Formats: sequence, structure tokens, C-alpha cells
Amino acid sequence: DKRNPVTVMGLGPMGQAMVRAWLKKGHPTTVWNRTASRADDLVREGAIRADTVADALAANELVILSLTDYQAMYDILGEASHALAGRVIVNLSSDSPEKTRKAAAWLAERGAQLIAGGVMVPAPLVGQEAAYVFYSGPRRFFEVHQSTLQVIGRADYLGEDHALAQLHYQAQLDIFLTSLSAYLHAAALLRSAGVSAKSFVPYAVDNFNSISSYLAEAAKHLDEGRHPGELANVTMMGATAHHIVEASTEAGIDIGLPAAVKAQYDGAIAAGRGHESWTSLFDVIRNPTA
Ligand code: NDP
Repeated sequence: DKRNPVTVMGLGPMGQAMVRAWLKKGHPTTVWNRTASRADDLVREGAIRADTVADALAANELVILSLTDYQAMYDILGEASHALAGRVIVNLSSDSPEKTRKAAAWLAERGAQLIAGGVMVPAPLVGQEAAYVFYSGPRRFFEVHQSTLQVIGRADYLGEDHALAQLHYQAQLDIFLTSLSAYLHAAALLRSAGVSAKSFVPYAVDNFNSISSYLAEAAKHLDEGRHPGELANVTMMGATAHHIVEASTEAGIDIGLPAAVKAQYDGAIAAGRGHESWTSLFDVIRNPTA
């Protein structure tokens, strides 16, 4: 059986991992990279080298971009825009939702379709069981290439709006980056009293695990716009937020992150919501100037 061919442009750690996943499954894979030498190993492993951007585009309808940002897409495709007509460009580069919508329009003016995507695993996990990728853009073109896209990870289609994949990618990294910084801050607070990170691990793990169990109930509050706070309310948790800022100040460590959290509780208390659940901070976050 003949596997669908694919072009991959951008051979950073992610692009290289994707090429290897497609080669392993027998998909003819054409590669191009600004720094041409980054394709050498892949060509030895069976990839087809395109010498020019136009050749890379001409090779296949399905063209994957794995670049640092969307500006790199213009830098690369701008010089070969005559070769874009009829291509389905799957851009797996991170950037803002607005830049992604603009890129869709830019490609459409040149006869190409954009499917925007975000890969949710690091390079070593591309093509593995845990891998999944967010996609958004015209459903018809996603579906045509879905089986090929599944090779690099489960393909989660979110809707026609090109911004949706970026928003989901950023929502996930919002949780990830903020949580990692919260963990580091907590470890620094303990270190101020000489406590090792190692001894804190079981407690931190317990905490991260229990946080996930609150989410379904919290989402219900957010979606229904009701924030009953019988068990733990904003006034009580806001006092704790204040204590964390005080403890951090006493320890002489950075207070930026806990101060930002405290400001959200202060906002909810000022809005008369002290008796509600912590989920009412959602409204403070959504309307920061209210
Ligand atoms: P890198 O930033 O290391 O790779 C960038 C690629 O973009 C290289 O091929 C580079 O070419 C090319 N590039 C950058 N700027 C230009 C330009 N102006 N013109 C032409 N080519 C350009 O990225 P990764 O492989 O790590 O990641 C790719 C995307 O995937 C990013 O958007 C990242 O956010 C996302 N991602 C990364 C993950 C990771 O763990 N690394 C995990 C999930 C998503 P050259 O080789 O010539 O420099």
C-alpha cells in the first residue's frame, strides 16, 4: 500500500522528529531547511532533499512547517509564493492567534490553505503513544490529510477558526509554565530555611495530583457563572495569598508571582465577592479593568 507523501520545512528538533516518524511509517518525505546541512542525516535515513523552497512546495500537496514563529514562514515562502497554489500548509509553529489568522489570509490570497497546529509533546515523544497535536482550519483539508497527520501524534481537530489551535497550545503552556514557576517558587521559599527540594517532592507531587481533581467542578462554576464558596472562599484564600507574599518578602525571594496571585484575590474582594469560591477570580482575570 502506498503511503501519502509529505514535505517538511524546518528541521529543528521537532521537524527532525516528525520526518523520522513519517519515514518509519513509510511515507515518502521531502525535506528543506534554511541551513541545508541540517537535512543531511535525514537524507541518509531516506528523506528526499529539495534544493529550493519552490521544489519543496512542488513535491507534495501536504506541506508541514516546523519553525520558530510565523515570521519565518513569510521569510521562507515569500520568495516562492508562485508555487503555493493548491498546497495545504500545516504550520506547526507557535505564534499568536492574530498572526495565525493573518497567515491564513496571506496563504489564501496565494491559493493555499492553512491548517494551524500545535504539537503538545517534546521532540523525543513525537510519534509516540503520548503525542497529540491540536489542529484548526478548514475541516475539509484537515480530513483529507488526517491519516498522514496521525503518524506524528493523535490529531485533535478543534474547528474552522485558525486561532483555535494556537489558543489551545497556549492555554496548555499557560498552565505548564505557570505551574513550573509556582513549584520553583515554593522550593525557593523552603530553601530559605535550608530545606532540600528532594524532601519536598512527595508533598509537591501530592499537591499537583490533587489539583487535577478540582478541575471538573471548577469548570462547572466557570461555565455556569455561579461560584458557591461554602467550603473555601475568596476571603480565606486571599488571606493565605497575602501570607505567601509576606513569607516570600521575609525570605528575601522574588515576590512577583505570589503578588500577582494576591492581586487577583484583592480584585475579587474589592468587587464584593469575598464569600464566593476561588473560581470567581475568573471574572477578575477576564475583565482586568472592571
Ligand atoms: P527551533 O526553533 O529549534 O527550529 C526552528 C526551525 O526554524 C529551524 O529549522 C530554523 O532554521 C527555522 N527558522 C527559524 N527562523 C527562520 C527564518 N527566519 N527563516 C528560515 N528558517 C527559520 O524549533 P523546534 O524544532 O524546537 O520547534 C519548532 C516549533 O515547534 C516551535 O514553534 C516550537 O514552539 C514548537 N514546539 C517545540 C517543542 C520542543 O520541545 N522543542 C515542543 C512543542 C512545540 P535553521 O536550522 O536554518 O536555523
